[in-house]
Amino acid sequence: MPHIVVADPIHPDGIERLRTAPGVTLDHPAAATAAPLAERLQGADGLIVRGTAVDEALLAKAERLRVVCRHGVGYDLVDVPALTRRGIALMITPEANAASVAEHALMLMLNLARNVVPVSAAVRRGEWRVRGQSSTFELGGRTVLVFGFGRIGTRVARLCAAFGMRVLVHDPYLPAGTIRGAGYEAVVDRDAGLAQADIVTVHVPANESTRGMVDAAFLSRMKQGAVLINTARGTLVDEAALEAALRSGRLAAAGLDVLRVEPMVQGLPMLELDNLVVTPHVAASTAEGLRRMAWDSAGNVLDFLAGRADRDAVVNGEVLKA
Ligand code: NAD
Repeated sequence: MPHIVVADPIHPDGIERLRTAPGVTLDHPAAATAAPLAERLQGADGLIVRGTAVDEALLAKAERLRVVCRHGVGYDLVDVPALTRRGIALMITPEANAASVAEHALMLMLNLARNVVPVSAAVRRGEWRVRGQSSTFELGGRTVLVFGFGRIGTRVARLCAAFGMRVLVHDPYLPAGTIRGAGYEAVVDRDAGLAQADIVTVHVPANESTRGMVDAAFLSRMKQGAVLINTARGTLVDEAALEAALRSGRLAAAGLDVLRVEPMVQGLPMLELDNLVVTPHVAASTAEGLRRMAWDSAGNVLDFLAGRADRDAVVNGEVLKA
């Protein structure tokens, strides 16, 4: 009888899917013992994590574990080689939150284009006169450069096109024809793209090759007065370089859903800047996104344990071959 552990709170529909699955026993936060997670994993066949890190120490006693599902798509808190060495599959919920994150990127663009946060704060202070002082712009007619044409980037490109933007896409891992076929301009030379874009929006995975990708050199290639959006991962951005670019006016503004260190370190100096909008890594966490991530996490683990894994959702496919 498969035993499944859910390490973090997830949407109740996901718990219900597991609870009503025939022949499954379940351990989840609302019904868990006080025992440390590593002990609760003794005898577990499947594990669902949201914010919990998965490392060697956690896996030490998990001798029966065959599948871990990360609620979402980023798995920077999971030691994938450690799972692979033990023959444990890592799964994600690939499509569940892509629409939510794409809408969030557009929300940040609109927010900065219309100066919403400072203007709203001024009105709350009774300063209606801000009406004549705030300079704003339309997205329509502007050029956006989308970095990464995956699940989220493709959706962002579509939304930007719907706003009447010129859409450039940079993704060195895809044939230019794929991007052109979808109706967008493929940019092979990154810097040539940066030089043309009014808005640059980043949708690439966080890994060794993308860490610190948005550094001083990257920012210096961006158009004077351009806007940066990052809903991907904080580690992609050199925050000191970004702060300098925002203070100097080289960049007009930035919208971030993610920071280099999360939860945020108190007193991050750039947070005092009016031309920065920050949300606390919530792009995926709409009602719909949370429900789909929980539902799909449950389905992934149940299907895997029943021998019908969705291979597209498995990160370390080599364990399936073994
Ligand atoms: P995906 O794997 O579907 O797509 C990523 C794309 O980036 C791929 O097409 C890949 O070829 C491309 N790419 C890789 N390196 C690149 C580079 N150096 N330059 C340009 N393109 C490159 O990923 P996704 O599901 O679209 O997720 C994108 C990002 O969003 C990830 O970092 C993910 O962790 C993050 N994310 C954030 C949230 C949130 O709540 N803020 C939620 C979900 C995902």
